[in-house]
Amino acid sequence: DTIGANLAATVARFGDREALVDHATGRRWTYTELAAEVARAAAGLTALGVRKGDRVGIWAPNCAEWVFVQYATAQLGAILVNVNPAYRVHELEYVLNQAGIHTLVAARSFKTSDYEGMIASVRPRCPSLRHVVFVDDPQWSDADVPEPALDRDDPINIQYTSGTTGFPKGATLSHHNILNNGYFVGELLNYTENDRICVVPPFYHCFGMVMGNLAATSHGACVVIPAPAFDPAATLAAVQEERCTSLYGVPTMFIAMLDLADGYDLSSLRTGIMAGSPCPVEVMKQVVDRMGMREVSICYGMTETSPVSTQTRADDSLDRRVGTVGRVGPHLEVKIVDPATGTTVPRGTPGELCTRGYSVMLGYWNEPEKTAEAVDAAGWMHTGDLAVMDDDSYVNITGRIKDMVIRGGENVYPREIEEFLYTHPDVLDAQVVGVPDAKYGEELMAWVRMREGVAPLTAEAVREFCTGKLAHYKIPRYVHVVDEFPMTVTGKVRKVEMRVKSVELLG
Ligand code: ATP
Ligand code: MG
Repeated sequence: DTIGANLAATVARFGDREALVDHATGRRWTYTELAAEVARAAAGLTALGVRKGDRVGIWAPNCAEWVFVQYATAQLGAILVNVNPAYRVHELEYVLNQAGIHTLVAARSFKTSDYEGMIASVRPRCPSLRHVVFVDDPQWSDADVPEPALDRDDPINIQYTSGTTGFPKGATLSHHNILNNGYFVGELLNYTENDRICVVPPFYHCFGMVMGNLAATSHGACVVIPAPAFDPAATLAAVQEERCTSLYGVPTMFIAMLDLADGYDLSSLRTGIMAGSPCPVEVMKQVVDRMGMREVSICYGMTETSPVSTQTRADDSLDRRVGTVGRVGPHLEVKIVDPATGTTVPRGTPGELCTRGYSVMLGYWNEPEKTAEAVDAAGWMHTGDLAVMDDDSYVNITGRIKDMVIRGGENVYPREIEEFLYTHPDVLDAQVVGVPDAKYGEELMAWVRMREGVAPLTAEAVREFCTGKLAHYKIPRYVHVVDEFPMTVTGKVRKVEMRVKSVELLG
């Protein structure tokens, strides 16, 4: 199916049910009303000359218009390019030119960023860009548009990776890629037309637009947008007032929400998704106990795979949900290989996770060499993530190949040390990176965020805490206390940046 055909089928079945709620402004749409907005956006884009295969950028925080444009471009067969809300002029110019964007739909401003001004300043250097449409006044059209012939394998979306490990890459995805992924994610969460999903992660990322929007529309469920950008109090208020059954976030968002959770009635919550980066065990337990998300699911995936590859199921034990990222999703394959030789390793042995199936991207936009490095001739996506699969086929992500530290010949997985530091009562959050060392090749530096009102930990105190509990080569030599970690807009810690700063700190 194409995304447009799927939406039409949902409208036919659930036309009168609520499809979308913008909690900040109180606006709401049924499926029939949503389809009408999508048709107007499609007509408006057509009037601007957008045709099948043309790139339409969207640069806006979460809002209803984002959703309209997502479905409008899919109906036209235009390629939606998700532009990161955190971008500044340099990155904006890069993405406009790299993707050859024809029309950009944008907010005028977001937080302290003047999008309108930035667009004006780069426009002279972006020859492909014909039109800019602002979401507060899009001037769509009521004209009828002819329906182009579409194929489920047509590219319809370019999503840039989070840029956690370097410069973002534009994964090109088809209807078939992302519609199926959204559908199966929703299946494993047992979504029906009675579910109301509070989508906190940015739509610009597949977590929001696929696991949120496409999972909802393919099951007739409703998307609730709590606020344009993550705000823990606004999110909890939206869950309470809209009686949401499902809530999404990355672990750092749940950590912030847990601080306030006791002040809200969250009894409507049944499930949700925590994904994007490793979830500390303690956070997971509290999300289940204090937020009532009994069936909360952990998903693992990446932009290049639409995104989800493995997912925990509603009936998985809490142990599985805190200790693993679940099992491979329907119609997908996963294998763990030795990164050096490419051969599959035995169960229980760490290696690189590779995945194959409907979810693997068409390729990186205009970067055939990078595509060939990532996807091999047999169709396996090499994720760059280290993982272990147990005898029951549950997968545990142990880190990224790029983050692994080799200290004195020993492979050190920072994740293990982070989990341990997290058990210190004064520690709010911890991240561990490798820094160059003359004697051992690399040494460990722990970046630590302290709980409010406690004194910063010294390196000696951290070493004392670890001694006898972690092998000596896993004990961080350096400790750096900070208020915040450098983050991507998707809420991930940017270890590349931390490594560079760590070296400066030691220099
Ligand atoms: P870039 O590829 O630009 O460096 P990125 O890999 O962070 O950035 P995404 O595609 O947004 O960009 O994120 C996918 C990555 O997120 C995965 O490769 C994995 O490292 C991490 N990840 C996703 N889900 C989980 C999870 N449940 N547990 C641990 N890590 C996860
Ligand atoms: Mg990546």
